[in-house]
Amino acid sequence: MPSLDRRAFFKTASAASAIAVVTVASAPRVLAQATTQAPEGPFKLAPLPYTPAALEPHIDAMTMEIHHGKHHVAYVNNLNNALKDYAELAKLPLEDILAKIAEVPEAVRTALRNNGGGHANHTMFWSIMGPAGGPGPDGELKAAIDRDFGGIDKLQETFNTAGTKVFGSGWVFVTVDKAGKLALATKPNQDTPLMEGARVLIGNDVWEHAYYLKYQNKRADYLKAWWNVVDWKAVSGRYAAAKAGTLKI
Ligand code: MN
Repeated sequence: MPSLDRRAFFKTASAASAIAVVTVASAPRVLAQATTQAPEGPFKLAPLPYTPAALEPHIDAMTMEIHHGKHHVAYVNNLNNALKDYAELAKLPLEDILAKIAEVPEAVRTALRNNGGGHANHTMFWSIMGPAGGPGPDGELKAAIDRDFGGIDKLQETFNTAGTKVFGSGWVFVTVDKAGKLALATKPNQDTPLMEGARVLIGNDVWEHAYYLKYQNKRADYLKAWWNVVDWKAVSGRYAAAKAGTLKI
């Protein structure tokens, strides 16, 4: 390169590498915005109430990051998109949209069912988990579990068995009514007992995206380990709210 002396060459090369560094450094920030930025519309993705690694070793950080930052945000974005041309529906709280799912316009019914259900289910899911440790259920909640399931061990066994039997993707729940009565329910896809006007005490996500990185095909192991990260204080709060008629999703 006779026309380009060494000094000019290095100047050009270092400018090029500076551009490369800027591009690489800004890429993760752009990605983070794309996945967590609140979309246009009535519904927003709340941040996780703990760090993605907080549920280790039972649920790994990468699963949490992808689950919240890619899967949940997609439900929120798709829910807002489905409501774009339905201003009246968009004013309703999510639990009301889901309770009326059979009556919403057919053009958006499936989108609202899948993505509204997905948003409600995941919002509940993050809220009932927390860093490992802590005591099991106590007080009124423990009494209800003893009465309706025959104890916490029996509840876990019944719940885990039901969770392993969900074919394909879905959820296993414990529902709670205003009298405080508990019952087991399973649902396919992102369906939720909210679609029957019921209330959810707890639920576990048995879609493969919830456990596959760490547990692969061993859903039963995931279901068993999951109880280590249930935040019973949060669950007791939901139980009290259900009895008070203030539990929403
Ligand atoms: Mn999920």
